Amino acid sequence: MTERQIDWAPLLAPRAAAIHASVYPKFGALPEHPDVINFKGGAPAAECLPIAHLRHSICRAWQVEPGVLYYEESEGFLGLRELIAARMARRGAPVSPGEVLVTNGSQQGLELIAKLLLEPGDRVVVEGPTYFGALQIFDIYQATYDVVPMDQDGIDPVALEAALKREPRPKLIYLIPTFQNPAGVSLSPERRRAVIDLSHRYNVPIVEDDPYGELWFERDLGPLRALDPDVLYLGTFSKTLAPALRMGWLAAPPELMQRFIDAKESVDIQSDRVLQRAVAEAAGGGWLDQHLEQVRPIYRSRRDHLLARLAEEMPPGTRWTLPGGGFFVWVTLPGGMSADALLHRAAAEGVQYYAGSSFYPDTCQRPTFRLGFSTLPEERISEGLARLGRVARDIG
Ligand code: PMP
Repeated sequence: MTERQIDWAPLLAPRAAAIHASVYPKFGALPEHPDVINFKGGAPAAECLPIAHLRHSICRAWQVEPGVLYYEESEGFLGLRELIAARMARRGAPVSPGEVLVTNGSQQGLELIAKLLLEPGDRVVVEGPTYFGALQIFDIYQATYDVVPMDQDGIDPVALEAALKREPRPKLIYLIPTFQNPAGVSLSPERRRAVIDLSHRYNVPIVEDDPYGELWFERDLGPLRALDPDVLYLGTFSKTLAPALRMGWLAAPPELMQRFIDAKESVDIQSDRVLQRAVAEAAGGGWLDQHLEQVRPIYRSRRDHLLARLAEEMPPGTRWTLPGGGFFVWVTLPGGMSADALLHRAAAEGVQYYAGSSFYPDTCQRPTFRLGFSTLPEERISEGLARLGRVARDIG
């Protein structure tokens, strides 16, 4: 065997420089601790993963005829697309199975949208803060950003219009309108209408990323797609069943579907055909609805507990959002305290979270951070907030 001789660095395509991890430590490595209470999670609780039911569904799906083990159906298994279309219709957004493309998680749907629509330098409107996995993709396509602020009712339509007015026009409006990641807030009904009007007026399409919409605590707000058939809609089973399945979907207008199918085929030919049958089997017959009825109270109770502990433990002047569903609360520290600086101190005490700076395309430090409550039982939330409150009061 000869020594390795190739010098790879000069061979990398310029775009390789834009490829980075979804969250990377912008402000250095964190101290270690033997008992970390981790508020970073954005996945279902371990006790909400339907392991036995999935095992059973996967076994049944494996009783396949040999044809299923070939290359076929880049658009996805019809039975699964029918199930997805029926579920979307029930949430007020009727689509046909032909308008649904099964993807390897919604992350792949996002990548296909970027691939089809973005050129280097194109402007993308994002919520401030926004999902770091979306920035990871848009960065690769060398987008530039218009970060539009949000409040408790979601993105600010006045600031959105200002961004849309500027030439050259943005190419996309990327929104997580329901139980937003990371802010936990939802776009109000009035603003939903306003945002759609703006999208039409300026001819800039909306991408609706909706992983948490079905995990509501009080009521289903429905998708934005219910109000506008031009919305490019991304759904997933990652939060309702399990992220490892990598089973999501993109619902898009019919005139774009073949391009999306071809783009998907070029990347991975098709999603796992056996697992698609397993997910259709697992979710069908009303099972997923029953499952959601069981898990919603667990997440709701963790949210309630977290909000109560925040009120007791955090220094005066700390503010936070009140999520009506999903997995996240967004906290703002008082007096311009940096959440990145706090994170270093908190990690030394055994508490971790994602600092607000992870959810913006720039490298500014911010007084905000995300607390994910889905994976933590109440007593861990209490202990974590007690530790965090101590550190925050100490610095403040
Ligand atoms: N979008 C958002 C807003 C998310 O929070 C996530 C998961 N963290 C994804 C997309 C990716 O989900 P999936 O597992 O379906 O690819």
